Amino acid sequence: MIRKKKKNVSPSKDRTGKPLEANENLSSQGMATGNTLGEREAWIVVHEKAVLSREEAADLREEDADLREEAADVREEAADLDEKAQRAGRKTEKEKAARKATTEAMLREANEQLIIATVHSQTMTDAAEQATKQMTHLAEHDFLTGLPIRVLLADRLAQAITLAQRHGKKVALIYLDLDHFKHINDSLGHEVGDKLLQSVAKRLQACVRHSDTVSRHGGDEFVVLLPEVEDVQSAVHIAEKLIEAVAKPHLIGNHRLHITLSIGISIYPDVSKDAEEVIRNADSAMYYAKKSGRNKYQVFTPNMNIRTVWRHAVEQGLHQALDQSKFVLHYQPKVNLATGAITGAEALLRWQRSPHRLVIPTQFMSIAEDSGLIIQIGKWVLREACRQAKAWLQAGREFGQISVNISAKEFLSKGFLSSVRTILDDTGLEPHRLEIEVTESGLMHDAQQTTATLFALKDLGVDIAIDDFGTGYSCLSNLWNFPIDTFKIDQSFVQDIDGDAGEAIVSVIIAMGMNLKQRVVAEGVETERQFAFLKSHCCAEGQGYYFGRPVAAEEFTKLLTVNGS
Ligand code: C2E
Ligand code: MG
Ligand code: MG
Repeated sequence: MIRKKKKNVSPSKDRTGKPLEANENLSSQGMATGNTLGEREAWIVVHEKAVLSREEAADLREEDADLREEAADVREEAADLDEKAQRAGRKTEKEKAARKATTEAMLREANEQLIIATVHSQTMTDAAEQATKQMTHLAEHDFLTGLPIRVLLADRLAQAITLAQRHGKKVALIYLDLDHFKHINDSLGHEVGDKLLQSVAKRLQACVRHSDTVSRHGGDEFVVLLPEVEDVQSAVHIAEKLIEAVAKPHLIGNHRLHITLSIGISIYPDVSKDAEEVIRNADSAMYYAKKSGRNKYQVFTPNMNIRTVWRHAVEQGLHQALDQSKFVLHYQPKVNLATGAITGAEALLRWQRSPHRLVIPTQFMSIAEDSGLIIQIGKWVLREACRQAKAWLQAGREFGQISVNISAKEFLSKGFLSSVRTILDDTGLEPHRLEIEVTESGLMHDAQQTTATLFALKDLGVDIAIDDFGTGYSCLSNLWNFPIDTFKIDQSFVQDIDGDAGEAIVSVIIAMGMNLKQRVVAEGVETERQFAFLKSHCCAEGQGYYFGRPVAAEEFTKLLTVNGS
């Protein structure tokens, strides 16, 4: 008897031999979304598909075996029938022919089913193999750009080093980071940012040979591996090509975007002795390129490590300074240019590194910002400045407003607003006595959050000044929407007053401030001529060595008149 076995095929399984359609859609969807959740979902779908395909292939192999068994049964049954008929000895020619025909038909049917099952089984095996390949590809490539990621790069770098050792060649690693990419993401949105990254990825690939690897290291960092180079000059040549290619405008939707690269290069076996060191050194060199002005390349040299060690020591020192109260504030007067009266005091941070060594902020601020220590340091500055201001008021000393510098990182940090409120409450300083100075570029980091924070500060009653005005690249329409009280003209323009360009810029900023009914303070006034120019252009206030240098609180107190005297 032929057994009809029920096939165990799930309704989602494709019997048409095109099981990968869903995977193809999935891959292009993933390229469009490019987010981590999407990547994970896509990986899970491919993974499930691979499992289903493997299961189905197994089912079909089982079915195949069943059919072979059925064919054997048919043959066996035919033999039985034959034997029975012979034994009975009463078969007629007609019966014999009919039985033979039935047997042949059954055998044909069984054979056909066997062939179909074999074909299906092969299709499913191919599908499972392809799905597995796709899974491996997804695990090693970036969804957004389709470029290899860290793991694959590490693998290729290791191979390249082995080959270079054998052939006596060098391996070059080019580490690159987009300059100010965050501004584009923050101001134009992540969708535009993603498209820009895709556009950059394409240009990078177009600059190198097929045998080179362009990989994405996450965010706006890319790494290019040149597995066989003769010398450092070959890598420099590629770096120049990359800078030039990426600098051409990128047309994304209605935007014509410009972006530059900072590049670090390290070469195996020159200086960098293994894969890990090659990557680390290229990264350090890239950091150097950033610090020395961006839009350039730097080849790694050992003194860059010395700088890394130095930065580490400064960071440790800043931790200690916080714990051991080694920070102090100095105060510099702001004056009314018409009357010479003090209108405010700017609190400026100093680090008392040793009894005779006072370090100014430009020497440690970037390390404080990079390490995140600026948040704690900034809280200390704000509290100390408010405490001192309240103490002057309680002593009857009139100083106008106390100005405190806030870095972008602090300003955008989660607890910033609540710590301003707490500090004002704790010290008892009236909010209108406090002015917060934020730089132009600091305000442009995240226009939405910045606007919300600025309005919340205004609701509290705190004033806001834009520091170093004219040096950032702010979008003026954004600036007009911010509730700003004061523009501080950057000292570089004030010091250029002796030249025509400086005069023109300073007078434009003064006129703009007057039109917008905002206070304009000229920073860095050093000479009589600068003072006279500012006064004649009706600039309201000034700050600079001409009026007074930053000094310790006790000394500043002497400059303040006692109320009623
Ligand atoms: P800033 O806020 O623009 O402060 C003015 C800087 O110019 C101060 O440098 C001041 O000493 C200096 N200065 C004032 N008048 C003159 C002048 O006539 N000529 C010249 N050449 N310089 C003058 P300082 O104290 O070294 O501070 C540098 C920058 O560090 C500040 O620039 C500010 O951006 C930042 N900073 C200072 N204190 C703090 C702080 O507590 N927190 C934060 N986040 N940043 C701070
Ligand atoms: Mg300032
Ligand atoms: Mg300034």
